[in-house]
Amino acid sequence: MAVLTSYNPGTYLNNQNDTRIEANAVGNVHITTITQLPMVISNARTAQKNWASLSLLERQKTVVAAYQQLESVQDELATLIGQEMGKDYRRATYEVGGTVQNAGYFASEISAALSTEQIDNHTQLQYRPLGVVAVISPWNYPLAMANNLLMPALMAGNSVLLKPSEETPLVAELFVNTLNKVLPEHLLQCVQGDKTLGQAVVAADINMVAFTGSMAAGKHIMANAASGLKRLVMELGGNDPMIVMADANMDAAVRFAVASSFENAGQMCTSTERVYVDQSIAAEFEQKVVALASRYRVGQWNEPNVNIGPMVNPIQHQKVLAQLQDANAKGATFLLGSDDYPLPFIQPTVVTGVTQEMILEREETFGPVVVISRFSDIEEAISRANSSHYGLGAVVFGGQGAKAVAEQLEAGMVGVNQGAGGGNVPWVGAKQSGFGFHGTAAGHRQFSQIRVMSY
Ligand code: NAD
Repeated sequence: MAVLTSYNPGTYLNNQNDTRIEANAVGNVHITTITQLPMVISNARTAQKNWASLSLLERQKTVVAAYQQLESVQDELATLIGQEMGKDYRRATYEVGGTVQNAGYFASEISAALSTEQIDNHTQLQYRPLGVVAVISPWNYPLAMANNLLMPALMAGNSVLLKPSEETPLVAELFVNTLNKVLPEHLLQCVQGDKTLGQAVVAADINMVAFTGSMAAGKHIMANAASGLKRLVMELGGNDPMIVMADANMDAAVRFAVASSFENAGQMCTSTERVYVDQSIAAEFEQKVVALASRYRVGQWNEPNVNIGPMVNPIQHQKVLAQLQDANAKGATFLLGSDDYPLPFIQPTVVTGVTQEMILEREETFGPVVVISRFSDIEEAISRANSSHYGLGAVVFGGQGAKAVAEQLEAGMVGVNQGAGGGNVPWVGAKQSGFGFHGTAAGHRQFSQIRVMSY
């Protein structure tokens, strides 16, 4: 039986022949073959029918009991996240804690959203299951991103096929196996493989694809799902701008620019990707950004006090280097770091003088880089901030006029003197960063078919 091996990204070496040696393997899972999919889906359909016949409250109780099983494997999950994708243990523990400890609250919120609404004495709105939902998830938050879409899908009375990233198969396997100690057989199945399997799942006889990942993959999935008019939720990439106005609180802006550019080693959909700073304060801003960025500690997931882990794999490492090299060749100034780092790390890097001709400005950069451009006119900053196919998050730091600037930004989540998005609001992308969203009643209901019952 074919296996998928996951590797500790912190052990990748520059010698390409040495990058995938067995000693660096975290473990193996069995690959789900494309020929197995019809049986997997047939089992999912049978399980779904029984599951949908339960009341919403019964489903909620079962889901909550299943999530309680995760309490005993929290440490194991955090360790696997660190081993498989390099996130430091503190952040990995936070990701696991958020998923496990919020499960009861999350389930009751979803349950409230999916309860039948009585419109008048003769009309109800019912939220009915769709059938089989494929949840396709990325590696950067391997537990949280799967969970955000998986729980509402299950609660709505669907069965779920989880296709995790090929970078983090063991996190997903442990997550699913643990939930399955309580969930009915075949209601939740993990299908393991790379994007070829993902494509086959999308094309198979399923009813919905709930996807978190890159914009490019999202476009393929949308096209692939079109013939069956499969329902879609797409949480895609971002290229989030930050505008720093002349009257911004300097220290707060500096702290945000660095922390948000470096979070999760820069491998986050809403990390700050481009900072536009008013030229009247730019010199001081840049000097303070460099001072703070220099204090970040780079290292392996299990080393103490590490803020920045390795890039997830040599391909991602090379992508970041190529963006830095392009910026260097086109005249950007490196205030901290360089465009040449050996595997597996990208050191904290601060680049200024970035222009729209540079890939660093145009594309999502999945690495710990603060990308700075100076502006002299706020209209120019707004125009550059909006000059992107992406529209996930955006942030403005400034005084009285900051909200008016924020109102002009084309993004699903905009923060004024704070990060974009938050608790109890939709996690939503505009433009090509998203199609559908998760969170709030409207988000949860996307995993269901609305039925108008008139009687
Ligand atoms: P990716 O798109 O390469 O892969 C994501 C998942 O999709 C993986 O499981 C992969 O195997 C599968 N896949 C890839 N191509 C596919 C296809 N054509 N058909 C079906 N399945 C396919 O993304 P990644 O590198 O794992 O994750 C990083 C990306 O995810 C970044 O762009 C990041 O911004 C984005 N992201 C977005 C959010 C959000 O909430 N908007 C959250 C986290 C990550």
